[in-house]
Amino acid sequence: AKRYRLDRFLSIATNTPRRSIRRILAEKRVTVDGEIADDIRQQVDQFSLVTLDGIALQHRSRRYILLHKPIGVVSATKDDIHRTVIDVLRDSGLPDSELNDLHIAGRLDLNSSGLLLLTNDSDWSAALTTPEKKVAKVYEVTLGNPISDECITAFEQGIYFPYENITTKPAVLERLTPNTARVTLVEGKYHQIKRMFGRFRNPVLKLHRVAIGDIRLDASLESGEHRELTLSEVLLFS
Ligand code: URA
Repeated sequence: AKRYRLDRFLSIATNTPRRSIRRILAEKRVTVDGEIADDIRQQVDQFSLVTLDGIALQHRSRRYILLHKPIGVVSATKDDIHRTVIDVLRDSGLPDSELNDLHIAGRLDLNSSGLLLLTNDSDWSAALTTPEKKVAKVYEVTLGNPISDECITAFEQGIYFPYENITTKPAVLERLTPNTARVTLVEGKYHQIKRMFGRFRNPVLKLHRVAIGDIRLDASLESGEHRELTLSEVLLFS
């Protein structure tokens, strides 16, 4: 998260020259996260609780939301044509003040459904989405045609996409019935699963994400519903 020097932060937040801020700090009238702060060089960020004379200047808490994304809504915060996942959260009662600063940690296609994570904590979403961490994303997929053994092997070995000049990382394709599978990816290229099956001329009819790492979509959470992550889920990527 972006960090600011305390004197700069206070100067902007109170519209007071930095020179006066120095005096205010020396008079021990400021606290940061409950401790008296008198050092101008102390760093604060958007989540620090800063008070002056006992009054909070800002306090924004970190938010982590798990949404069961419906089919047909777009994984974006703004869109001119389609309903967005933010619209879905607003319709389920979250106030705009809590929606404004959310971003999506790992998008799903318009016609995909399932587990979508939103947060205002960019350090956390970076840890979740960074390729080095190889966080497993698990999808349930319904195909137009039966899944071949050749396809399973290709997912394991990687498929070359000339357009981006990349080979997909080893993926696990478990056939559940002739036309359904569980797919586990450790990356998220554009339309990746559809394009991997496309190589075998097998159209994806349904794509539903059920897990990201150890964070799972609850069976009890209906399409369009959301919940807060638990502390232990948040700590997986902190
Ligand atoms: N792969 C896709 O093709 N679409 C998704 O939404 C996720 C993975």
